[in-house]
Amino acid sequence: MGDAVARFKMIREGDRVAVALSGGKDSLTLLEILLRLRDRAPVEFSVCAFTVEQGKFLRPFEPLGQYLKARGVDWTYHRDNPSLRLIEEQPGHGCDLCSRYRRRAVYQIVRGLGANVIAFGHTADDFCESFLRNALFTGRISSLPPVTWSRERDFRLIRPLVFVTEDLTARFAGASGAPLIPCACADRTGTVRRTLRQLFAALEKDYPHLKETLLSAMGNIEMSRLLDPRYLDLEVRAEANPLAILDS
Ligand code: SF4
Repeated sequence: MGDAVARFKMIREGDRVAVALSGGKDSLTLLEILLRLRDRAPVEFSVCAFTVEQGKFLRPFEPLGQYLKARGVDWTYHRDNPSLRLIEEQPGHGCDLCSRYRRRAVYQIVRGLGANVIAFGHTADDFCESFLRNALFTGRISSLPPVTWSRERDFRLIRPLVFVTEDLTARFAGASGAPLIPCACADRTGTVRRTLRQLFAALEKDYPHLKETLLSAMGNIEMSRLLDPRYLDLEVRAEANPLAILDS
């Protein structure tokens, strides 16, 4: 994670980083490692965390709240009433609507926390799946941005777990002893995502470093060897005439 933070200039002097804590293994790992980085990084920054309650947690959040308090984490728990109303009014709503409500709540909370950076727990698995999904099912070469900005550019959005796979976050979070909070949607994995996960699992039996290689490929693009005319040299020029050299 330190490599990603440095490589993509994710955290800068004086930043206040708010970690979006879902109660799952990934965001908990993110928070713990950011706290450790904060204590030894060459730049000064602070870390806080927040959780948006959208009515989908399968267990009460109190045990995790107590764990965070004992760890001295500056943590905010926000019950998002519009999201809770959404569940009552449209129980079958999809991810688009849910994430739109969450995004609105996140910006509101983070503004209140005085943070300028929001850290999300997307992992190397998410980056690889997103890359393959876009390439195979939507006809685009793209994945998730490790660093980007909110629409008004008032928050830097970072994904420091870009190089960390979920087998690591599962082991790390398990060893931390933190009480994880499952989400009702945890098994609601779409068909495409499930297929990609199965594909990776099958290939990784023979090629255990497949995700590392794919992540390296995402950072090592040969634009002139793809099919996008914007990046190809298609200028019509006078062909060099080899005989002209002989004439001179
Ligand atoms: S998986 Fe569940 S919590 Fe996540 S965006 Fe979709 S509806 Fe919301």
